[in-house]
Amino acid sequence: MNIPVDPAIAPRLDEAAVRSGALSNVPSDHMFLAEYAHNEWRKARIQGYRPIPMSPFALGMQYAQSVFEGMKAYRYEDDRIAIFRLDRHGERFNRSLKRMWMPEVPLELFRSALQTLVDVDRGWVPEGPDSTLYLRPYVFATEERVGLKPADEFLFMVLTAPFRPNFPKPLRVKVERSYVRAAPGGTGATKCAGNYGGAMYATAQAREEGFDQILWTDALTHTTIEESGAMNVMFMIDGVLVTPPLSDTILDGVTRDSILTLAREAGLPVEERSVSVLELKEGIPAGRVTEAFGVGTAAIVAPIGVIGIDGQDVPLTVHDGCAMFTLKKMLNDIRFGRVEDRHGWMTVVEPRA
Ligand SMILES: *Cc1c(COP(=O)(O)O)cnc(C)c1O
Repeated sequence: MNIPVDPAIAPRLDEAAVRSGALSNVPSDHMFLAEYAHNEWRKARIQGYRPIPMSPFALGMQYAQSVFEGMKAYRYEDDRIAIFRLDRHGERFNRSLKRMWMPEVPLELFRSALQTLVDVDRGWVPEGPDSTLYLRPYVFATEERVGLKPADEFLFMVLTAPFRPNFPKPLRVKVERSYVRAAPGGTGATKCAGNYGGAMYATAQAREEGFDQILWTDALTHTTIEESGAMNVMFMIDGVLVTPPLSDTILDGVTRDSILTLAREAGLPVEERSVSVLELKEGIPAGRVTEAFGVGTAAIVAPIGVIGIDGQDVPLTVHDGCAMFTLKKMLNDIRFGRVEDRHGWMTVVEPRA
């Protein structure tokens, strides 16, 4: 698919600053847009990053038909640029869109949008070791309408920003016993905007109590572990990599899937099964639960150093020999092109003719 490119009027790219990581967390020069109306996507285009005109009555602002993805592009040592698991993100995007009664984005359009935009702004992809270009595709309802109805008009956009993670101390997470992120039959398995707004109050409360994040539990009994903040969560229990099984309350993380795949191939025993709060409360001091960590596109692997359970801090020892760091390295070796991509996870972005 050939997407027209209208170059930015005042490009801000300072390639040396981007490469070194000095210019981080700022929008890059271009963005992708396509409009949905009369049951089809049209006017796919790339233009300079700038504010967009929009009706103040846009339905998405009132009723939250708004869905996003979060993914990354990597710079190899030979300066090729590649996007990680493009199709898997596109498929999940469509599952989210479908659940929110929004139009799906054909995979071909999704692929072309991301590949062309990353190509146009390839100078914005920083250099490793952990620096990447963050990619943010999203769709929201733009139809101007007074009153509640499912929208018929939408905008599909893609923004990008160079991203250099800072490596914070191991997280302090709080087991949440009253607030709920996702309930059976709800939208927890989608990346719809409302899920994140709905989590902010509870997260702010946990922050006031000195925690970084919430360890969400199931909505009905608050006794089994679901996710950590906006990351999937994994544990090492008796030498087994354990993570809660996917359900309609747990997001199907691409990082989760990739780490499970690499662990299985490396011969590390893996179990997808539920983990109870009690198992952590007893198992950590007993030395059976030796690691806890979040996994997601932003942090890749976020070590957990303390789990707050009903007012009691339960500490875990995070050290260089932890399995989580080996798994992270295996994943990063693929993403930065340092080892062969046997799974076909990387889409190398070819420069336009
Ligand atoms: C995005 C997200 C994840 C992680 O998914 P990745 O595809 O690995 O980035 C996990 N949980 C929630 C709630 C999320 O929004």
